[in-house]
Amino acid sequence: MTAIDPTRTVKDLRQQLAKWRAAGETIALVPTMGAIHFGHLSLVELAKSKGDRVVVSLFVNPAQFGPREDFATYPRDEEGDLVKLGEAGVDLVFVPDIAEMYPKGFSTTVTMSDLTEGLCGAARPNHFNGVATVVTKLLWQVAPDVALFGEKDYQQLLVVRRLVHDLNIPVEIAAAPIVREEDGLAISSRNAYLSPDQRKRAPIFYQTLRELAQDLESGRGCDSAIVKARYKLEGAGFRVDYVTVRDPDTLKTLEGPVKRARVLAAAYLGQTRLIDNLPVPLPTS
Ligand code: AMP
Repeated sequence: MTAIDPTRTVKDLRQQLAKWRAAGETIALVPTMGAIHFGHLSLVELAKSKGDRVVVSLFVNPAQFGPREDFATYPRDEEGDLVKLGEAGVDLVFVPDIAEMYPKGFSTTVTMSDLTEGLCGAARPNHFNGVATVVTKLLWQVAPDVALFGEKDYQQLLVVRRLVHDLNIPVEIAAAPIVREEDGLAISSRNAYLSPDQRKRAPIFYQTLRELAQDLESGRGCDSAIVKARYKLEGAGFRVDYVTVRDPDTLKTLEGPVKRARVLAAAYLGQTRLIDNLPVPLPTS
């Protein structure tokens, strides 16, 4: 077991990065909230193919949690994470504490309209502003050549792309596909909250979204396919936040003949909020 030593301050981070830069090496950044799992490790693997040095950040960002959300109980395992990331060949793990990221008097927020307002943004009003703020800080702190994000958090990925475009941040944003458990459940740190019974039922979420995608592919009307999916999820004990089909680039509702779409959904099993999404090629007629 080879744990990697964490870097805790922006000053130390920049000192190390400056050495790699001086040697002409490129940097790939993987931002995470820790509780490292195979989804995160797939981003690390992709990062290795994209940059000479891989930096992973571990920071449970209070600014992206609502007052009644799970900030206090969010899974944390720094020691285990440092072993997993060391074994995965990561070059630097940045683990700032809250005071390092949000020093006393901190009063700047990156806010974004439009993309952040629907879907997860509707249920979690300040969530994406918290994400936009912390991602902007991390991109400025690390100044990577490439930063990697998972399609698991599809709306977040689009928010990050928009942010980088709008603020002219010179970084490539690369996306990685969703890593799933064998039964199809998208891997997530929050899956640890599921009781054994809920964990058994959880794969119905992805199965239902796949059926919805298949229904759309075979020409079933969008509204009726969505009603069917919602009905199935509710029947299996999920409390549905949203199930929807959107334009994959803008997340707007579909209008007119379109070739591509994205199924996106969020639902609660007990207290646990699950999200998932998948692409759909639509029949062209
Ligand atoms: P988190 O620690 O949940 O904030 O996730 C950090 C990064 O890992 C984000 O870009 C997520 O989209 C990505 N990620 C989380 N779970 C998965 C997964 N199952 N497959 C692919 N990427 C993931």
